[in-house]
Amino acid sequence: MSRTPIIAGNWKMNNTIKETKALLTELIPLVKDAACDVVVCAPYTSLAAAAKLLRGTNIKLGAENVHWAEKGAFTGEISADMLKELKVAYVIVGHSERRQYFGETDETVNMRAKAALSRKLKPIICVGELLEERESGKTEAVVKAQIKGAFAGIPTRQLKNIVIAYEPVWAIGTGKTATADDADNTIAVIRKTIAKLYNKGAAEEIRIQYGGSMNAKNVAELMAKPNIDGGLIGGASLKAEDFSKIVNN
Ligand code: PEP
Repeated sequence: MSRTPIIAGNWKMNNTIKETKALLTELIPLVKDAACDVVVCAPYTSLAAAAKLLRGTNIKLGAENVHWAEKGAFTGEISADMLKELKVAYVIVGHSERRQYFGETDETVNMRAKAALSRKLKPIICVGELLEERESGKTEAVVKAQIKGAFAGIPTRQLKNIVIAYEPVWAIGTGKTATADDADNTIAVIRKTIAKLYNKGAAEEIRIQYGGSMNAKNVAELMAKPNIDGGLIGGASLKAEDFSKIVNN
């Protein structure tokens, strides 16, 4: 089973419209021959400008969150229809920063993922353990529970439209990376969990990224592992040259 690797940048709360234009103008030619799927997840305010610049390129546009409701009294939130209108293709759901600072739970992750799928947006569903969970030997149990929660009620036919990002929380933005073997082993656990929830074929097909201080130096070792299908990149996606080196690895 060959899965097309997918490298996605998560800009987080970075880049004004002006900075977005400058970064993408530099990035587009650097990744035009990429052998993998390339996604840039930008803050809401940059999406329209990014969509315009990315038209006709091989870079797909992503958002960083989506609300589960179609519309209504949810001040500050953005719906799947609003993202679709801006030519967004992917959306990050359940990032650990959302879980940590904004009360995101497995249940709300599930609702957001379903809303995205209902409007043909591809969710990048993030899971991963905290440092204390890793140190107390709970990594497997934590990611299994997060996967079960996130995928509740999602039918098998939708799996091809979903990307999973395994992001050990202690490795995000810290410069600490999981060893390639550890990342691969936990991603194998995630694949087995998908096989149990659905079937073996679906588990073989679904793309699972690693995220957590991935950069131009460690990407080759991580990507050499059989279960790792790409990366969700934070810090290193903010510089065109750094991000392109990861994409072109
Ligand atoms: C992330 O925010 O998803 C991430 C992986 O960040 P960083 O690459 O900076 O660790």
